[in-house]
Formats: sequence, structure tokens, C-alpha cells
Amino acid sequence: MNYNKKTVTDLDVKGKKVLLRCDFNVPQDKTTHAITDDKRIRAALPTIQYLLDQNAAVIACSHLGKPKGQVKPELTLAPVAQRLSELLGREVIFAADTIGPDAQVKAAALKPGQILLLENLRFDIGEEKNHPEFAKALADMAEIYVSDAFGTVHRAHASTAGVAAYLPAVSGFLIQKELEIMGGALNDPKRPFVAVLGGAKVSDKIGVINNLLEKADTIIIGGGMAYTFKKAQGYAIGTSLLEEDKIGYAKEMIAKAEAKDVKFLLPTDNLCAKEFSKDSEPVLVEGDIPEGLMGMDIGPKTVEDFCTAVKGAGTVVWNGPMGVFEFPAFAEGTRAMAKALAESGAITIVGGGDSAAAVEQLGFADKITHISTGGGASLEFLEGLELPGVACLLDK
Ligand code: AMP
Repeated sequence: MNYNKKTVTDLDVKGKKVLLRCDFNVPQDKTTHAITDDKRIRAALPTIQYLLDQNAAVIACSHLGKPKGQVKPELTLAPVAQRLSELLGREVIFAADTIGPDAQVKAAALKPGQILLLENLRFDIGEEKNHPEFAKALADMAEIYVSDAFGTVHRAHASTAGVAAYLPAVSGFLIQKELEIMGGALNDPKRPFVAVLGGAKVSDKIGVINNLLEKADTIIIGGGMAYTFKKAQGYAIGTSLLEEDKIGYAKEMIAKAEAKDVKFLLPTDNLCAKEFSKDSEPVLVEGDIPEGLMGMDIGPKTVEDFCTAVKGAGTVVWNGPMGVFEFPAFAEGTRAMAKALAESGAITIVGGGDSAAAVEQLGFADKITHISTGGGASLEFLEGLELPGVACLLDK
């Protein structure tokens, strides 16, 4: 896939109406609907500010939550408009619909240097279904399309891909950075290239492991998914997470790694528990895990082996925690991995979701080269899949 795409600085946006797809899918308090973390709004500011400085008229749009084509008042983007206005220190005009009369009138009247935010795109079923009429109605409000919502580039929706059929389409600064750093790591990594994968499920990461076996020098597997691989190697795993139907695949991957001379590291010792509970007493087990115990985190020996591999790396990509890091007694493997990445001196890339949250919570975020803003999107990126929201942008 070509990651060398035109960006917002490659087009003349001065005085133009620009449709800007943002990712304002912010977490909200369940009862008050107040925004609990405005990181995604802040992340969009550089592109918005650039466009406004260029005197473009910015028509921003986003989804929020999963209204599934219905107007759900609790999922209105109105609070985002307000927060965005505070952060920009200027008025953000808000349209009460997406392609309806209010949006049309306000978009038509929008002046250079002004910003309008449309209502939640997913209030209209045409968004997720990528209906051409919906995409065209969005496109008709503007002259240029800028995509900066990396979290949704793996979806072929009207606002993430469909609109590019009607407007010159380029990336904003957020997507540009994702493509440069993750694309660079996949196409021409500084070696050794080490991939660290964890989390609960093998099935979520099948494509990623398969693709990275073609590119990485070392693959490290921790977290709940490691136990299916251990089982495939003939070890006892007690009551640890197991995907029985993926044992064959795990064997295949281990064999592929051998054939390709890729180092494939699995846990050799584990912190186990009798029950999946934060109050469970950690029990250190080497090798076979006996019946009645489940692997909850990697053990100290494994931590050392994994961290040694990371320390010598040129590039590290990490996706998925090494254990049940939500429980303090089983967080050490994930914490040590975050620290090893932070201190490695390598180009370090952390996929979105849990591993990004762990790196942030543990205070290592500013020592990581790049924390992806998209969980699902960054996984599909690592799988080497074509991302519709990237493929639709103009090539450089
Ligand atoms: P994922 O969404 O696939 O990245 O998985 C993240 C989740 O995996 C986290 O909530 C972790 O608690 C969980 N996890 C990590 N290691 C284990 C383990 N050994 N057993 C059960 N769950 C785990």
C-alpha cells in the first residue's frame, strides 16, 4: 500500500471551503455526558489551526459513539463544539444536523477563517453505509476534503472514503504522522525490528502476526494470547486463556518463524492466579502451569528476556498488554515493557487501545516516538491491509 499521500500543505487552501473529517469520538460521563478526556479534540488542533491561519472556511465533522443511523440526543456533538471553541479561543458554529437544512445554510454562509462543526455523522445511516448521496451532500458543501481521523481510516464510510470521489482529498497532520512513522516502520524499519504483541485474543492478531513475520527480526508474544502458543508447543497451561481452534494456527506461526529465521519469544515463567480477580494472590510458575491456576502476567525471567530483546532494537512496535495490567498485582510485565520501550533509544511505536492507555497511565508516553491515535486502524495497518481512508487520498 502506498503511504506517500498528499497533505494539507500540498494544496492551496486559502479562502477555500474545507471539509475536515476529525475524530471527536471522545469518552463521556454516562450520566452527565460531560467530556471526560479531550485528548482527541486537542489532537485535531494543529490541522484546524493551520487551516484557519490559511483563512480557509473549515467545515469539521465527526462521529460520536454508535447511534446506528438514529438521532440520539445524548450523542450530540454540541459539547465537543463548546470544548473546541474553548481550546481555539474563538467561536465554533454548530449545525443541528449533518447534511440537512441547518448544515446547508450555515456551510453556505461560512466565511474564510470561520469554523463550523456538523452534528454527529452517524445520526444518518448513509454515513456507515457509505451511501453516495450522503457522501455527495457532504462534499457539495466544500471544495477540498481533508482527512485527519486516523481512528476511522480502516472504515469505508461516507465521510472517511466516499467523499473523496467528489473532492480533492488530502491528509491532515495527524494522519500524515501516522503514515510517515508506521509506514516507515513497515516498509523500511531500522533493524533489528522487534514486534511486541499481547492482549487477550490470538484471533484479533492473526493477520498482524502473519504480516509481521514477513518483516520483523523478533516477535515477542505476551498477554493472554501467549497461552494458546504455549499449548501449541505442548506445555500445560492450567486454566489460562485458550483459543482451542487457534492451536493449529499457532503451530503454523511458530514453524513459519523458524523457517524465516525470525526469533519468536514466548513467556517461560508466569505470574498465575487461582481466580481472575484483582485480589488473587500471585503465584510464580516456571514452565508448565498446573491445573487450577491461570497465567495473569509474564514472570520476572520472561520480563528480563523480553526487555533485553527490546533494548537492542532499532524499531519496536507494541500492541497489547503483557498481562492483566488493570489489576496492580499483575501489571508489572506491562509496566516493565513500557519502561523498556521508553529507555530503548529505538524508534518506538505503540498501537492504540490498551497498550497506549498503559503507556500513558504509567507515565512513559513522552518517551515513546509515536502513540497511534487509532486502535483498530493501527492493527489493520500492521496487518498490511489496504485502509480505505488512506487509499482514497491523492498520491504525492
Ligand atoms: P486486547 O484488547 O486484545 O489488546 O486485550 C487487552 C486485554 O487483555 C486487557 O484488558 C488485559 O487485561 C487482557 N489480558 C492480558 N493478559 C491477560 C491474561 N494473561 N489473561 C487474561 N486477560 C489478559
